[in-house]
Amino acid sequence: MTEASKAITLATPVSDLSGIGSRCAKGLIKLGIESVSDLLRHLPMRYERHAAESGIAELQPDTIGTARGTLAVVRWVGGPGRGGKRQSRLEATLQDDDATLRLVWFNAGYLRDKLHPGVTLRVRGKVASFANYLQIVNPKWELLDEEEQVAQTPDYLRPIYPATEQLSSIVLEELIRDILPKVTDQLTDPLPQEMLEHHAMPTLAKAMQQVHQPADDEEPAVGRRRLAFNEFLLLQLGIVLKRQYNEHQLKSPVLRFSQAMDGHIRKRIGFELTESQSQVVGQIVEDLQKTVPMNRLLQGDVGSGKTAVALYALLMAVADGYQGALMAPTELLAEQHFLSIGKMLEGSNVRLALLTAGQAGTAGSAQRKALLAQIQAGEVDIVIGTQALVSTEIQFHKLALAVVDEQHRFGVLQRAAFRGNVNGSDTTTSSDALISAPHCLVMTATPIPRTLSLTVFGDLDISTIYGLPPGRKPIVTRVVSSTQSDAVYQYLRGRLDQGEQAYVVVPAIDENNQGASAKQLKSVTAHAKMLEERFFSKHKVATLHGRLKSKTRESVMNKFREGKIQVLVATTVIEVGVDVPNATVMVVEHAERFGLAQLHQLRGRIGRGTKNVKNLCVFISDPTTEQAAQRMEAIGETLDGFQIAEADLEIRGMGDFFGTRQHGMPPLRVARIPQDMDLLQLARRDAATMVAKDRWLSTPKYQRLRNILIRQYGDDLPLIDVG
Ligand code: ADP
Ligand code: MG
Repeated sequence: MTEASKAITLATPVSDLSGIGSRCAKGLIKLGIESVSDLLRHLPMRYERHAAESGIAELQPDTIGTARGTLAVVRWVGGPGRGGKRQSRLEATLQDDDATLRLVWFNAGYLRDKLHPGVTLRVRGKVASFANYLQIVNPKWELLDEEEQVAQTPDYLRPIYPATEQLSSIVLEELIRDILPKVTDQLTDPLPQEMLEHHAMPTLAKAMQQVHQPADDEEPAVGRRRLAFNEFLLLQLGIVLKRQYNEHQLKSPVLRFSQAMDGHIRKRIGFELTESQSQVVGQIVEDLQKTVPMNRLLQGDVGSGKTAVALYALLMAVADGYQGALMAPTELLAEQHFLSIGKMLEGSNVRLALLTAGQAGTAGSAQRKALLAQIQAGEVDIVIGTQALVSTEIQFHKLALAVVDEQHRFGVLQRAAFRGNVNGSDTTTSSDALISAPHCLVMTATPIPRTLSLTVFGDLDISTIYGLPPGRKPIVTRVVSSTQSDAVYQYLRGRLDQGEQAYVVVPAIDENNQGASAKQLKSVTAHAKMLEERFFSKHKVATLHGRLKSKTRESVMNKFREGKIQVLVATTVIEVGVDVPNATVMVVEHAERFGLAQLHQLRGRIGRGTKNVKNLCVFISDPTTEQAAQRMEAIGETLDGFQIAEADLEIRGMGDFFGTRQHGMPPLRVARIPQDMDLLQLARRDAATMVAKDRWLSTPKYQRLRNILIRQYGDDLPLIDVG
């Protein structure tokens, strides 16, 4: 045990610390604390002042005070209390040499044998003035014996930590108080002295002490600020270095552009681009004419017409003799893109192909092989697919542009894989030692709140499509409880009789595929059967989910599009990409189980037609948590994806918003977004200046920062090569 305690480092797993019981270990896991370093970054949420003991005469009204004295008068007051209940009250006076304090305990029967005149007490509580006296009601108290009468309680700020059922704040406090001095020497500061001085910030070790064991009221904020800045700076440096790598080490094809080409492409798209779409197209066209790879995020609300913009860019690549790729998060969406883009390209020379994992079966494998060969030979111009597109099997002949649709479903790592994989394409010889890479356009319908655009997506340029294409009718949203579901479906029947179509979304595919906790969730199969029997016996109901064969899925979608199916009961596979203008009503069962962004995406499946009918989205939900209730309120309140994203961030907090881990971002433990926005900006400026002066942070004063960055980002950053 002593051996272990000697060897404690910041990286030591907390489970290895002595004195950690299984209950405590569970609590730590729940709080996401794995290492000593995590433990130190688990900051108090507030502090309680434990006041020094004072003489009675010095007690101040309206503060928490501690004082000692001798009990003088002790008086029991009995009698019927409120509501006729008998209650007894103990009134006493506490005296020291100078003054007297009144003490009152209510319901104090339990004190009967404990407090007598003449005993010495230390009491603590909120001091109030009452008539001419100072008084404490229901004070905490302890009896003092002779020796203790000398000892004084020191004044200190007690940290109150976020805790769990298994692990109280007090245990955390003790744990940290024990560990901090043991690792203080290891908290060498990654930031150069001059930087700390410039910002008037404490060292790392000092900051840790300030937040966990503050000496005064100011220290916690000062220390926390320093720790938050540390996190932001590392993050921003990672982003700046990634950007720099993109700009200086990679090289993409320069695509030619002409007015004639622009005219051809616009004609192909078939409708007039909105002003906002055109503006974004302009930004992309500019990017594509440079050797620096485009690294652009296109955000636009559900239905805002991102596909047309992507198609424009893809066609620009094709027009110049290159290939383009479009990656979708689900097979269904890839298939939808293949169909709709195929339609737009009818009668053109552009060769379009679909590549999904679904084709990998035995029947499809020969076909797939042939397709891969065609892609490699440059006999295909645009490839649409799923994650299968980033598999190592695929060699493009001349890939100039990779588009990733619905980025929020992939994460940054996926995007990186895409890039790396196409490096093998022989677009350039590497005589100038630059690595060739395609231009990259990622699209998302989950708008990135500004704060996050500087963090998770900080290495991207951002374009935004504002508004929706003309002629769209607004969607009416209703949030109802499950007791109203019969009425909802009866109403829906009426709408179907008018020739309209509807989606019904449920959380599960079938009954037995549910976890034990998910009791009685509606499933696609059972729910479709019930709807058919009870409400829609005269209508055609069909089901759609991710486990259907792609042929079946395709035929169901075709029939729905053609109006041969009126009600499509589906899982969230329809969340992205499904575009059927005649579908005007959506019902979502167990809506409380879905995320806010997801609900908004789902709702975006309707309201796509221009017919003069009421587009209606009904969320059936019985929220059981506060967060779920807030989600339902937010979704009912606005149709604006940007507002929804902000609300989502607010409800869930930064950590959960995108699942930052999944996005390859080191978790922020101390820094808070958006509250620490000013610090984020500061870190951003500092990171830019540092890298501008010292491109690979190679001066010795940055040595520690470099090491940490390499540890955090690993191969994502080019630091090691240059080191
Ligand atoms: P999202 O941004 O959600 O991917 P889509 O690209 O699927 O949206 O576009 C939604 C619908 O709007 C599609 O049917 C598309 O053809 C149509 N659309 C897009 N842009 C325009 C436009 N400028 N004018 C008319 N319709 C458009
Ligand atoms: Mg889309």
